[in-house]
Amino acid sequence: MDLYSGLPYWIAKNPMENYFNPLLTDITTDIVIIGTGITGSLVAHELCNAGISCIMVDRQSISSGSSIASTALLQYEIDTPLTELIEKIGEKNAAMAYAACSKSVDDIENVFKSIDYNPDFERVPSVFYASNRKGADLIEKEYAIRKKLDLPVKLLNKKELEEKYGIKARCALENNSSAQMDPYAGATHLINYHMEKHQLQVYTHTMVERCEEIPSGYLLVTNRSNIIQCKYVIIAAGFAAGRFLPEKVIQQTSLTATYAIISQPLDPKYLWHNRSLIWETNNPYLYIRTSNNRIIVGGENIEFKDPVLRDKLLRQKVNRLEKKFRKLYPNIPFVTEMAWCGTFSTSKNEFPFIGNQPGKERMFFALGYGGNGIIFSMIAAQIIKNKLLGISDEREKLFVKEVE
Ligand SMILES: Cc1cc2nc3c(=O)[nH]c(=O)nc-3n(C[C@H](O)[C@H](O)[C@H](O)COP(=O)(O)OP(=O)(O)OC[C@H]3O[C@@H](n4cnc5c(N)ncnc54)[C@H](O)[C@@H]3O)c2cc1C
Repeated sequence: MDLYSGLPYWIAKNPMENYFNPLLTDITTDIVIIGTGITGSLVAHELCNAGISCIMVDRQSISSGSSIASTALLQYEIDTPLTELIEKIGEKNAAMAYAACSKSVDDIENVFKSIDYNPDFERVPSVFYASNRKGADLIEKEYAIRKKLDLPVKLLNKKELEEKYGIKARCALENNSSAQMDPYAGATHLINYHMEKHQLQVYTHTMVERCEEIPSGYLLVTNRSNIIQCKYVIIAAGFAAGRFLPEKVIQQTSLTATYAIISQPLDPKYLWHNRSLIWETNNPYLYIRTSNNRIIVGGENIEFKDPVLRDKLLRQKVNRLEKKFRKLYPNIPFVTEMAWCGTFSTSKNEFPFIGNQPGKERMFFALGYGGNGIIFSMIAAQIIKNKLLGISDEREKLFVKEVE
């Protein structure tokens, strides 16, 4: 199943990775990571940094799954509003989840600083505006609870929102704790960095078809019938992870197709205050960011049924995204240069699936569900590293699902 179609901007912006190294023999190793997307690359980074060398396997070219299509807005707000999350898991846990996501933005920044590489990581404000009256009520409730829980947040009224960002809406939440990046540059650079340091081996164009448990770990069987014998396996296979997942987890997840367009470069005078991230209370929501002097607009999410239907809708979805953007910013001369669509997994409460199943201590899942999956990729990488090192991590209570 293809993970995206159209032309994701990151493929045009970056040279495409040509690394080609299929596995052609049987091998024995300690740790295997299945998947070289942003999640697998962050897991590999955390492990290599802790002195744990590992092997990555991908059925395609490096990082050419959902990560190459991602718009990569990095925000502490998960898709479930805090007020709603509190109803589901209680105030203490919901506050902890939001705080963990906020820290994750800093941690992603620090990962790239530590290898002295900047994948166009930029700190930008985030503006979450009320799409309608109901949205304004939500904004007010969210403001009150975020303030109470000491999360970074500011309430902008109608006048302030229009003066500062040129957006005509009842109100908005603003914070300065968000960021954006180039996810393809980030993931590929991390992998190349650790390969060059001989801490990491990568086998591409090698599909893991089966994963058999043995007393000392796992036997992974590839599409060429080669066997990888390992002590631990980490599943960072994104939304194609279904074949490795327990039935109960599959039942709690669904797939979402999302659409994105990028404009031709614009005169910077047209871009709004601090080139903030912009999104709204409507569900599905419109999401907007910039890259250089271009504007990226995403949204129009639908339940993913099959790639043919998803792709058939691309032209129609492009028109709708353009229309919505022009309604928000009628004076910005937005002309679409490229368009694409991609798929990601969603869980019922937008939470990731990180960690082990009971009795399967040697298999780890690193699956960051929802519209801000990259935030969870970082958290998964740290939790798994800590588990392997025997370090307790309080986020385990929230994100490590033990499925019977
Ligand atoms: C259009 C779009 C916009 C998005 N916007 C945002 C956003 O603004 N902010 C945000 O945080 N998130 C966003 N997301 C979600 C985010 O991109 C994903 O959560 C993230 O990219 C997932 O990364 P991953 O590494 O887990 O998965 P992937 O990038 O899909 O990588 C998984 C890899 O595993 C490999 N693989 C799968 N099965 C096997 C197998 N059996 N054997 C070998 N290899 C295998 C695949 O080939 C793939 O390379 C968006 C997603 C899309 C599609």
